[in-house]
Amino acid sequence: MPNKFVYMDYNATTPLHPLVKQALVDNLDLFANASSMHEQGRQARSTIEAARLYVAQLIGAQRNPEQLVFTSGGSESNNTVFATMFHLGRKQDRNQIITTAIEHPCVLNAAKWLESEGFPVHFLGVDGDGRIDLAELARLVNDKTLLVSIMAANNEIGTLQDMPAIGRIVKPSLSWLHCDATQAVGKIPVDVESWQVDYLTLSSHKLYGPKGVGGLFVRKGAPLEPLIRGGHQEHGRRAGTYNSGAIAAFGLAASLARQELPEYGQRLRALRTRLVDGLLAAIPKIRVNGHPEQVLPNTLNISFPGAEGEAILLHLDLAGIAVSTGSACASGSLDPSHVLMATGVGPELAHGSIRFSLGRGSTADDVDYVLATLPGIIARLRSMSTVSF
Ligand SMILES: *Cc1c(COP(=O)(O)O)cnc(C)c1O
Repeated sequence: MPNKFVYMDYNATTPLHPLVKQALVDNLDLFANASSMHEQGRQARSTIEAARLYVAQLIGAQRNPEQLVFTSGGSESNNTVFATMFHLGRKQDRNQIITTAIEHPCVLNAAKWLESEGFPVHFLGVDGDGRIDLAELARLVNDKTLLVSIMAANNEIGTLQDMPAIGRIVKPSLSWLHCDATQAVGKIPVDVESWQVDYLTLSSHKLYGPKGVGGLFVRKGAPLEPLIRGGHQEHGRRAGTYNSGAIAAFGLAASLARQELPEYGQRLRALRTRLVDGLLAAIPKIRVNGHPEQVLPNTLNISFPGAEGEAILLHLDLAGIAVSTGSACASGSLDPSHVLMATGVGPELAHGSIRFSLGRGSTADDVDYVLATLPGIIARLRSMSTVSF
């Protein structure tokens, strides 16, 4: 067992913020059903409404927090939007869907489901830095477009899309605009107003809150078909007894994320720079994936030609360093990352790529430990490699 542990997989999930962990424990006694009329029920209810305001504040929706629906997480929020489009689109001829080739699997597979149901779906390609072509989007949006769904920040390479510009292109049309902002919220400023989105997805466990809880912003007037029917929780938009304690903890995590955001972003960007500069200096012929500036402050994706991503990951793991190849959801499959392939890096480089994602617990010491460990691993793997690069 290594005697040092370095966690650099914050895009897969984050540990609980210590204050959130305490709140979760305290809230274990918040057992009453938040839909009950008695004092304990009303207490649980007001805790949930406070959390709703905190989460709404983090995404610029505080003027009408009712627009935020609590869900079980990002996957459910995204699927709710696509299910809504299924119900709308099968009854009318405005049924075209536009999304991107680099979405998270829960959007990609929901879009493929609509495609299999006969909906015309267009998957926008991206350039070498992972950005969509805004002119192409403007050409594609027409009066047959039902939904445009574009992620704010990519989970694998960290590339940011120009959401305000996308809003300006889509808004004048009849189509609904959805943004999967799961990786953006808590890392960069997110604003449903200037982005002009109708739907926005976020998840608690990517911002130091508990797993199994998330949110879907639904603009007043935008349609919503519940994925889960039952009681009238969330005004009939999402049935099921509230997970009050987890929702309260999500609210606290959102409130802390909002307070810490400016300092958090600056600190992570500095650590990211230290890591990328150190790796570029120590290891020849590596390629930094993602946009050079329009990128999450915590995410660094690098291809190491002549070395396999899985082999690098295993050697780093033996040294106590936790990273990821592509996305956590994609590992276990031997297909090269769909995101890297969409940026045109080719299967060789896509297979030899590692995602480092930093977070609250990351230190300069952690970065230096990676810089002391990784060059030797790459040199050894390259010396055994049969491919030239
Ligand atoms: C993690 C993630 C999701 C899924 O969120 P869950 O709460 O784990 O279901 C969706 N989209 C993106 C971009 C993500 O990073």
